[in-house]
Amino acid sequence: RAIDWDAVQRDLAGLNIIDARGQRKQLSRDFYWYSPILSAQLDNCIAELVVKVSTEDDVRQVAATAAKWKLPLTVRGGGTGNYGQCVPLEGGIVMDVTGMSRVLDVADGRIRVQAGARMHDIDLAARETGQALRMWPSTWHVATIGGFVAGGFGGIGSFRHGILRDTGNLLNARVMTVEREPRIIELRGDDIQQVQHAFGTNGVILDVEVALSPAVDWVHCTVLFPKYRQALDFGIDAASPDLDLFLFTTVEARFAPYYTAMGDRFPTDRHAAFAMVAPESMDDFRKAAAGHGGIISVAGTEDQLLALGLPPAYECAFNHTTLQALKLDRSWTYLQISYAQPFDPAVVERHLAIFGDEVLQHQDFARAGGEAGTFGILLVRWKGEAHQYEVIREIESQGGCQVFNPHVFTIEDGGMKTIDDAQIQFKKRSDPLGLMNPGKTRGWTSDMARQV
Ligand code: FAD
Repeated sequence: RAIDWDAVQRDLAGLNIIDARGQRKQLSRDFYWYSPILSAQLDNCIAELVVKVSTEDDVRQVAATAAKWKLPLTVRGGGTGNYGQCVPLEGGIVMDVTGMSRVLDVADGRIRVQAGARMHDIDLAARETGQALRMWPSTWHVATIGGFVAGGFGGIGSFRHGILRDTGNLLNARVMTVEREPRIIELRGDDIQQVQHAFGTNGVILDVEVALSPAVDWVHCTVLFPKYRQALDFGIDAASPDLDLFLFTTVEARFAPYYTAMGDRFPTDRHAAFAMVAPESMDDFRKAAAGHGGIISVAGTEDQLLALGLPPAYECAFNHTTLQALKLDRSWTYLQISYAQPFDPAVVERHLAIFGDEVLQHQDFARAGGEAGTFGILLVRWKGEAHQYEVIREIESQGGCQVFNPHVFTIEDGGMKTIDDAQIQFKKRSDPLGLMNPGKTRGWTSDMARQV
């Protein structure tokens, strides 16, 4: 279908339009390159136009123009997603919302912000009132709240507050539809699940209200263990109500060479746990660590660690572990796993035995749905697609492990596994022409598009 791009640009008059190829290419990418499989599939996807919006009226103009010309429209926040979430599979328009970054309101227990606000900036605004965000991804200096809601899962803070989906974390959201005359839909409480982890396929999130908790000046700790099993057992016990933790992550000793800044605070003959601990829990944390054979090699506030050239604990956790390794060795890729509960460390020991040097172990402890949750982000040596799927099959064959495949770009083939009917029903209202981030959900078929 031939598109008159000059006419499209006239409809977008007054907006900040980018049509230089280099910038369009850059703004059509995210962190999918962790996966060689996705790299091969997505490297050539590029938007015809990128529009940088800074007001709701700008969004309205872009949404109306996309609907008028039936153009694919992909919303972009910080572009830190891992599955090509904001890569425009079918070209069209990429709308960068990072210019919509205002804090709209901070009250007791809540903050309302525009969707393009960066997570770290939001936390700074909250801290001015003695409060803090309940959870954020380790990419929080770049990642936006809209991208976290539409693409994320949970992260730093999930040990204490559960995952994004858990009731009480997301409070309100306003979403703009993509139609000739865009409308605004308000979502409250659990209704926000309709757009959570929907990869921006069903409406443009304009602003979000999230819950806050009283601020804590977390102590970032590294604990070293002779055996990996000891670190994992500590992870299970760390959920004790006596300990107030924001983060608890374990990595085995073979990660040490990738944590170059840590030197002998993470030597190659020791396994490590990284934690963020409330100051008043430090005495109990020390005792519990010692009870599991652990020795604390780092304990300090983020500022103290940075002054020593050490990374904060959250940069040693979740998908930052993979990034640390990839910075030095691009022959790794990764897999994400959820373990059956109650978590049995013997499952990890089995994987250590059968995979040898092909797979390195890293586990994140968290809460999900009010229960303990244990997740793994494993480093896997890249030996081709067939080998990657052999590893997946082996992991899923025993012990109740579920792999969230990071080598696919649809919502359903990755973490969600099934089509979320509520999200598809919402898409019928919010994106009746099926223009938003096409190709990312298997739940939407072209015959669903309402002809307007
Ligand atoms: P983007 O990548 O820009 O977008 C993500 C998705 O949201 C896309 O589908 C996009 O179309 C959609 N979207 C963006 N803004 C809007 C909007 N306003 N309206 C509608 N749709 C929108 N994720 C976690 O959940 N937890 C982690 O701990 C974590 N750690 C990470 C560590 C590393 C090193 C890396 C590279 C990634 C990590 N991620 C993690 C993934 C990612 O960083 C986060 O999910 C982040 O919050 C995404 O935000 P973003 O602004 O970069 O989103």
